[in-house]
Formats: sequence, structure tokens, C-alpha cells
Amino acid sequence: MPETPIRYLKGVGPKKEKIFNNLGVYNVRDLLYYFPRRYEDRRSFKNINEIRAGMPALVKGTVYASQLKRMPHFTRGKKVRSIFEVTLGDVSGKINCVWFNQEYLASAIKSGQELVVYGKPYFSKQGFKLVSPEYDFFSQAPSLNLGRIVSMYSLSSTFTQKFMRRVIFEAVNSFKDKIIEPLPFYIRQQCRFPNVSQSLEEIHFPAEWENADKVREKFIFEELFFSQVLVYLRKAKHRMQKGPKFVINQDIFEKIRNNLGFELTDSQSAAIAKITGDLEKSYPMHRLLQGDVGCGKTVVCAFAIAVCASNGWQSAVMVPTEVLVYQHQDTLAEIFKGMKIKIEIVSASLPKAKVKKIYSALEEGKIDVIIGTHALIQQEIKFKNLGLVVIDEQHKFGVAQRLLLPKKSGYNPHCLVMSATPIPRSLALSLYGDLDLSIINELPKGRIAAQNFLVKEAQRAWVYELLKKQLTEGRQAYVVYPVIEESADSDLKSLEKSLDEISKVFSPFRVEMFHGKMKGDEKLKVVERFRAGQTHILVSTTVVEVGVSVDNAAVMLVENPERFGLAQLHQLRGRIQRWKHKPYFILISDNNLSAAAEKRLEVISSTGDGFKIAEEDLKMRGPGDFFGSLQHGLPDLKIADPLRDLELLKLARRYAYDVIKSDPYLEKPQHRCIRQHLDMKHRLAQILKNTDNR
Ligand code: ADP
Ligand code: MG
Repeated sequence: MPETPIRYLKGVGPKKEKIFNNLGVYNVRDLLYYFPRRYEDRRSFKNINEIRAGMPALVKGTVYASQLKRMPHFTRGKKVRSIFEVTLGDVSGKINCVWFNQEYLASAIKSGQELVVYGKPYFSKQGFKLVSPEYDFFSQAPSLNLGRIVSMYSLSSTFTQKFMRRVIFEAVNSFKDKIIEPLPFYIRQQCRFPNVSQSLEEIHFPAEWENADKVREKFIFEELFFSQVLVYLRKAKHRMQKGPKFVINQDIFEKIRNNLGFELTDSQSAAIAKITGDLEKSYPMHRLLQGDVGCGKTVVCAFAIAVCASNGWQSAVMVPTEVLVYQHQDTLAEIFKGMKIKIEIVSASLPKAKVKKIYSALEEGKIDVIIGTHALIQQEIKFKNLGLVVIDEQHKFGVAQRLLLPKKSGYNPHCLVMSATPIPRSLALSLYGDLDLSIINELPKGRIAAQNFLVKEAQRAWVYELLKKQLTEGRQAYVVYPVIEESADSDLKSLEKSLDEISKVFSPFRVEMFHGKMKGDEKLKVVERFRAGQTHILVSTTVVEVGVSVDNAAVMLVENPERFGLAQLHQLRGRIQRWKHKPYFILISDNNLSAAAEKRLEVISSTGDGFKIAEEDLKMRGPGDFFGSLQHGLPDLKIADPLRDLELLKLARRYAYDVIKSDPYLEKPQHRCIRQHLDMKHRLAQILKNTDNR
């Protein structure tokens, strides 16, 4: 059985099993699907006289002499205990190979034996030398390590490549025919993919480069195909649910428009039309509203909330920070002025008695809209009829947190998730394929783009002058520090130190500190004072990234911007991108930046377009990091990379779509393999039964 625990494999015991587990390998199937990270071409032998320094070479020769030197004065702390040296010769010459601290080699490698070695030669006084080359004995049996295309795995330091290859070879030989082909035959045929048994063999031990490429493609497709099948299964299931069906009364739209001090942008109007259209359907909405920071997503969700309330249902708005809770409360109250929509918040800063009142009012249905952080999912909170869930800044929540809120409704509520993480549309569709997608791709008119400065320490005095000038003109400013780990006290100290410095430099302007370790109500007070103009500079961590919006703050100084992600810098800049005043966004970077870091920061200062930045970020950082931080709904992708493999993703998506459309319960015989595979990997039954998975 491929499900056999890894420790029963030849050469693996309980000790090695632990190490395998750390690599995510638990059973034989996992091992078979532990694909090489890359390959090395070790097919052509070189004569010893053809060797060049620094060029990896494969050499076959006879052991002329060998010598084990033990270091007599070996003491602890010294690294070299012994040196084993072998002189290898072929018709063209001789070369020395050395290994450190591997005494056992002395009994394994003997004069007269034929040896194959592979390594990077360097030139020493005694001629060319290979240090710790890979070696194999030359025999008729094909080697896994030399004289072929050789797989290289990502490994912890405890395993050698050689060991890994041997164990995998063992597993492939004994189990490759026991793995059930997960892809339907007709798909495999149409795409010209080899079967799983052959594919496993070829991906680990390819005979030719082309074979390795083709089977890799198959496995990438396989991974993406199943991720998309899951996505469509969820989507199909959503459609089968019955949600609250709302009736739309145009009067409320009119009222909201009158309350806004501005015209909606075209994309806002389009998004509102889509969303309210969803609310009229009999199945619940599952929509992602994506739009760059500052594009005006809050107003859009307000329309949905108003529709929900006017139909007598409740809405819940979940946001990542307390500050944002209060801000949304104000914003929505303003938008709903003169309309009978009752808004309340859940906040740790409220008195206990008040909280109790809110809870019971919520349960009795006397509250139309409740706003809160993830505190909203706590047990005590009960709704009378929760009909709409809005999740703002969804990328700040874990998948589990996002899932729980809709479950608090006894119904299947409409769900609107909002995100400022811009990803290209085709990718978004695939990543969040079970959600419908609306994109707001324009900022409200009249916004002044920030002027960006990318400077070094030497220009600090100049920066301070600019800041002083702005403060004197009545503006306010943020100074942001890269505190990555909010719990690190040393980071906090550095923040406190800068608070002193900034206070001194900019006296008599008032400076306050703002960071994630502060108590909730303390945070609110700091923000309140800043908003009221009592404080002029906020020395802060990235907590200002979401939520704090103060129109008068026009300058942001970011220290060590190289320690931030591009998306994060862009979010931060959004905090000063307002209307009335020209924003200044200043990055003071480290003096010795790598070229790559330099280039990244260039991107930020050269464009204000969030989508462009995201794309550049993706290109430079690699999707692993990027998507990791997005917490997308895909099951973990091991070999596929949605960006690099976009074409395969589209193909997989098409096939998955057809499969689920024609056979939503995967009952057709040709789809039995899909079912089996999902059953095994994702407990399909659960997916089909449970209400939601996102
Ligand atoms: P985000 O999409 O980042 O959540 P918000 O909803 O917070 O953006 O909106 C940012 C600011 O833009 C708010 O002050 C809001 O009142 C304003 N705003 C939203 N839509 C428009 C518009 N069409 N015209 C002018 N200002 C707008
Ligand atoms: Mg927002």
C-alpha cells in the first residue's frame, strides 16, 4: 500500500522517519510525490586531463593509492578530525580526491577499485583536487548518482542526496504500480500525459531531459486540476444552498447617494450593481471585492448592508483592527444618516454592561449592523437573522476565522469579502475561483499622487527639513519602523528610542508612539488625539497599515523600507494618499542595499499602481512567499506555481469546469478516479456535506 508509513521502507527506521516527517513525508505516497528540486546532468565523463577549475566534472578512474590521515592534535572545536585522500587515475592523468571526517571510507575504497566521482575541481599545489566529491563504484549496474541525469532534492542537512535517491528508488520500484492514476484517462490522453507509474519513475530518474519536463508538466497539471476541481465543487455547492433572497428598494440607494459627498466611480457603481444583483438571487452570494487601497470599498459594502437591513436582516462586518471598527462605525453612520439602520460595535474597550446589552439586542434582532474584529466569532454572540457577512481586509484573517463568521448564522448568509491585495485577474479567478470577483480599478477623482523619495542616511537632515516644513504648514506625519515581530521587546526598545529622538528633533511638535503591543483603548486614544490634531507625528509600526485614516496626515517616513514587502509599503502609502494635501512618501534605506533590494524599492517609488506593484513583487519575490502571505484557498501546492504555470492553470481550470458541470457529484465511471483521489486527500464526503470551506 502506498499509505504504508515511511519507517517500513528499507533503509528507513523510526529515527529517519522523524526527519522525513519534518519534510512533510509520512508515507510512501508522500515520498513518491516528493519531487526533485532540480537535476544535474552527469552523463558525460571527462578525461582527467580535460578537467578545468570550477567546472563540475564526472571522472572515472582506478584507485592508485589511498591514505587516511588522522589529525593527532584533534581537539574539540576543531573541525577536521581526519582526512581521507585517494589518488585516482585514468589513461590521461591523475587527480586527488579528499574527504574530511569520513574514516569509514578507508575501509570502503581500496586500491585497484574502479571509482566514479563527481565534483567541482580546484587547483592546488599538487594539481587538481576534488573536495568531498560524490562517488560511486563503477559496475555494470546503473548508478543512481553518476553517469546519468541526477535528481537533487531539497533536504535537511541530515540526509544526503545519495541516501534520498536510494530510498526513493526503492519506493518507486516497489510501489509505482500501486498508485492509482488520479487523472481520468481521457484527460491524460488529450493532454498526452504518461500514466502515473511511468511519470513517477521519470520525474525521479529521468532518462532524458524532455521526459523530465513532460512528466513535471503532468504533475503540475494534476495538482492544479485537483485544486480547481475543489474550487468548482465548492462553487456548485454554494449554488445549491438556499440563501436569504432580498428585494431591492431603489429609494434606499437614492438616500445613500444623497448622503455621500461625492459621485461614485464607474467601477464602484459596477460592483454595487453586481453585488445587489447577487442579493436578489435565491442562493447566497460569495463574492470577492478587490480594489487598491483607497479606492472606496467601504461605500460599496454599505449598499449591500442597506439592502440587507431594509429586508429586515442583520449584517456583520468583520475588520482586522479595533481602530478600523470605530472608523467603520463612523463611516457607515454617516452614509446611513436619516435612514433607520441601527449600527453597533463589538469592542474590548466598551463597558461590560453595554456589551451585554448589545449582545441581547443583537439576538433579539434590534441591531441591523454589527461591526467588530474577530471578536465577532466568539461564542456569546448570537444573531437573530444574520443575512450578510462582510469581511474587510480579508488577507489579514486566517482562513478559519473567515469561515466561522458565516457559520454563526442559522441561515446561509450572503458573503462579501473585500481585499486590497491586488492580484492579476486571471490569477485571482483561479485562486479564489469559488468566489465571484469584482474589481475596482480606479481611484476616486481628484486624488493627488504621492511624491516619492528614495533616500539614504546621508540625506536625513534634508528629509527632516522637509518634514518640519510640512508640520509648520499644519500637516501631520507618520514615521514607520519595521517591527516585524510585534512581540520582540528589542524592537519595542528601538521604537522607544526613536520616539525620543524624533521628539527632540521636532520639538515643540508633539510626537506619540503607536504599536501593536499597546492596549486596545490606549490605541484608540492615540489615534483619536492624532485625528484631532493634538499630536503631530505618529511614530509607529505597521499597525497604521490598515485603518488609520487621517486626512491631514500628508507625510510618511519609512525607516529601513528594505525590510518591508512591496505590497506592505504600498498599503502604508495608501494612508497618506488623500485629497486636500500633496502627500510625501519618503523611504530612508540602509546604505548597503543589495542590487535586488534597490530594485524593489525603485518599483515602489516609480509607480502608484497597486496591480503593477503586485506583479513586480511576484516576479521578484517568487510566488511562494506572495501566495503564502495571501492564504489563498488552494490546497498546498508543492510543485505548481500559479504564476509561472498560468497556462497549465487555465487548462486545468477548463477541464475541472467541464468535469463538475457535467458530473457535479463525480458519479460517472470515468470520474471515479477523481473521487477516489479527493476522498483520500481531502475527505470528499466532508466537502460535499459541510456548508462551507472558505
Ligand atoms: P478602501 O477601498 O481602501 O477601503 P475606503 O472605502 O476607506 O477605501 O475609501 C477611502 C476614502 O475615499 C474614504 O474617505 C471615502 O469616503 C472616499 N471615497 C470613496 N469613494 C469615493 C468617491 N467615489 N469619490 C470620492 N471619494 C470617495
Ligand atoms: Mg478599507
